[in-house]
Amino acid sequence: MKYLKFFQTLLLLLACVTLSGAKATVILKGKVYRHAGSVSRELKCGYYVSGKNYYIARGRENFSFRPERADFRVSNISVAGSFPARQIGGHLYLSAIDVNTLLRPLFMPRQSIRRHAVRRIIIDPGHGGFDRGAAGKSIIEKKLVLQIAKRTADILKRCGYTCILTRRGDYLVPLNQRPLFANRSKGDLFISLHCNASKDTRAAGIETYCLTPAGASSTNHQKVSGTAFPGNAFNANNFLLAYEIQRSMLLRTKGQDRGVRRSRFAVLRNLAMPGVLLEMGFITNAAEERKLATPAYQEQIARAIAVGIISYHRRIYSCR
Ligand SMILES: [Zn+2]
Repeated sequence: MKYLKFFQTLLLLLACVTLSGAKATVILKGKVYRHAGSVSRELKCGYYVSGKNYYIARGRENFSFRPERADFRVSNISVAGSFPARQIGGHLYLSAIDVNTLLRPLFMPRQSIRRHAVRRIIIDPGHGGFDRGAAGKSIIEKKLVLQIAKRTADILKRCGYTCILTRRGDYLVPLNQRPLFANRSKGDLFISLHCNASKDTRAAGIETYCLTPAGASSTNHQKVSGTAFPGNAFNANNFLLAYEIQRSMLLRTKGQDRGVRRSRFAVLRNLAMPGVLLEMGFITNAAEERKLATPAYQEQIARAIAVGIISYHRRIYSCR
């Protein structure tokens, strides 16, 4: 008993030493930041430094960051944070938004994610009709995304899911109609499929977007907006879905990792279910276009998306 008391005092002392001189929470330019060490303890994680990288890790999950940078990594996959990690008075801080929308879903899913049934998947092939989307030398986005959407739906149906496409032919569905259709169809998940384009023909790789949290700026824009959209009710789930799809895509296609990113895309804002937008590759990159044009690679992508959805489903299920 005496020893127990001694160890309890020792642990308390250690905790105080780690936090000595560091505030658990600081406000910087109106944003709340949390002390990374305190966050790691709250999440029951290990916290360590290796080279320039700081790690918060437990079990198979591992989150790493660098001071003054917002390009985080989750188990070797790039994840764009909402704000850079800050070094204040020799201590490291992470924005409360990143703690709540990245770290808590990863390490404390039971307390942070919304548990829901995963049965009905809405697949949204982008563009259509006069809106061709991006164009490469031989393929156009509207056609390619529809082909991959149909392949993905076939695989998911074989796995027991119900799949509904927002368009089944070459016609345009207005952007704002897509989430409304998904909501009316009582979807459990929404996956929008696109291909990327760039003036830089060397640009290549895969990106998965989820809705930017309120109070944060999107990955490709600096503007901070405080508006909370209906889709923000699923911030934690949106991130986990994006992460699982990005991870599965990289594993199966061996594509370049451009990361899980945040954007306030019209198709994601008004969803009444978790949703992501996937950029499956650059149609303007000759090598990627050649691959994207082949049925074998399209099938590989479709499988990767399906496996990503199943992995997300497992995560939701395992923390019931
Ligand atoms: Zn597109």
